[in-house]
Amino acid sequence: MGQRGKVYLVGAGPGDPGLLTWKGRDVLARAQVVVHDRLVSQAILDLIPPEARRIDVGKNAGHHPVPQGEINQILVREALAGHRVVRLKGGDSFLFGRGGEELEQLARLDIPFEVVPGITSALAAPAYAGIPVTHRDYCSSLHIITGHKKADGQLELDYGALVRLQGTLVFLMSVGSLGQIAQGLLAAGMSPDMPCALVENGTLPQQRSFSATLDTVAQVARDQEVRSPAVFLVGRVASLARQFHWFDRLPLKGKRLLVTRLREESSALALRLQELGAQVDRLPAIRLEGLDFQLPPLDSFDVVALTSATGVRYFLEGLLARGLDARALGGKRLAAVGNQTAAALSRFGLRADFVPTEYNGAAMARQMVEQGFLCPQDRVLVARAQSASPGLTDGLRQLGVAFCEIATYRTALTEERLADPSLYDAVLFTSASTVEGFARACPGADLSQVKALCIGPQTAQRAQALSMQTQVAPQATIQSMIETLMGGNEPC
Ligand code: SAH
Repeated sequence: MGQRGKVYLVGAGPGDPGLLTWKGRDVLARAQVVVHDRLVSQAILDLIPPEARRIDVGKNAGHHPVPQGEINQILVREALAGHRVVRLKGGDSFLFGRGGEELEQLARLDIPFEVVPGITSALAAPAYAGIPVTHRDYCSSLHIITGHKKADGQLELDYGALVRLQGTLVFLMSVGSLGQIAQGLLAAGMSPDMPCALVENGTLPQQRSFSATLDTVAQVARDQEVRSPAVFLVGRVASLARQFHWFDRLPLKGKRLLVTRLREESSALALRLQELGAQVDRLPAIRLEGLDFQLPPLDSFDVVALTSATGVRYFLEGLLARGLDARALGGKRLAAVGNQTAAALSRFGLRADFVPTEYNGAAMARQMVEQGFLCPQDRVLVARAQSASPGLTDGLRQLGVAFCEIATYRTALTEERLADPSLYDAVLFTSASTVEGFARACPGADLSQVKALCIGPQTAQRAQALSMQTQVAPQATIQSMIETLMGGNEPC
């Protein structure tokens, strides 16, 4: 008999990827098959290992593309085939998540399973709207109730009991039955002034939250066109949202941004922007490709000049691939264009002997000579990107310094396509090549509708040449770009 698999029932939390538990993330990272729902956010789906098979059994309100019985069958089938199966559900799997039903079948067949609890939307959506679900001055209990109607349209709730509890009431799956619930509570004697809240897309960048009272809440939901998924909360604690609503006050809340930098660099930036409340999409407009470069005899050089952290990586990896290592640079002086490049060298155990005060190739050439780092008879090896800007090599030529240039990698433009580039409050560009890649990703689009935020003047020139609405960060740093987005304020 082959090896038996195991099923992990994982609660993915309400949407904000930061609210997935560590255990959930670890289990997901080792999944072979992932069976997921509609309410699992894209950012969490992005954590699924590329080699894992995904099965989307997403349900829409009132219509179930994959019936529950079939989901149970899928779990059994995959586990019996020996796979590590993650059943990924929104919020917590046991809270109106039918997790229990899925386990029954596994238990019956003696298939091993584990349960990883998730943060439920019933608690997290109010928390992000600034509502503590209990507070000693207001209530002493919390009740989580489904507002889902039966197939015949019936909603059987004991409104009298709910009113007598005097606790906070949180209704899930209640967008379609909100008016009915409010009526029921009023008829059972709850005050029409009882504070209420609606939180749509809780914890996601597109979260919207509304305060109301029991007699106005149905109207507010209609006026604001509140849609599922939303939490409907009834109770005196709802009045605290006015004081505590922190998420909607984040500096980039409501802004939709596109990050275009390299895939390996974009997640840290995206995370930072998300923490500030923005909705962030990623389109890596460029990617790097190592080149099979000809390595000249290293003995003939006195100085090796490197012009980017990526260049350092491809150059040193190129040495390793040729049976050499950092010792091949033993007697040479090393020049790095900036501190990032110097830091990349130090990761290979090498110290930069020279870093110019101004981080560009032309300044580097000039300062190397001015400061006596380079003598006229020195020979320089320049290792850099194909079609990199010619500042350094032009500078060396003008100064009469002999050099040899090798291209260790190149920047390729994306093959991806972007449907609507005008959707964004800003598209962030961190190099001229990201501008090129972006333009290529949206053929035929009216680029004059694109609001480009550029890291520096060269990037901005390219964006302007393509008629984008262009803004430049005052300093050529990511931090300065973020401050520009926030209207010049320091990020908090
Ligand atoms: N197991 C889930 C609930 C599943 S029932 C949990 O623990 O969160 C689906 C209902 O959950 C939706 O109708 C909605 O009421 C609520 N819900 C799920 N995600 C939500 C979100 N991000 N914001 C507001 N409500 C949400």
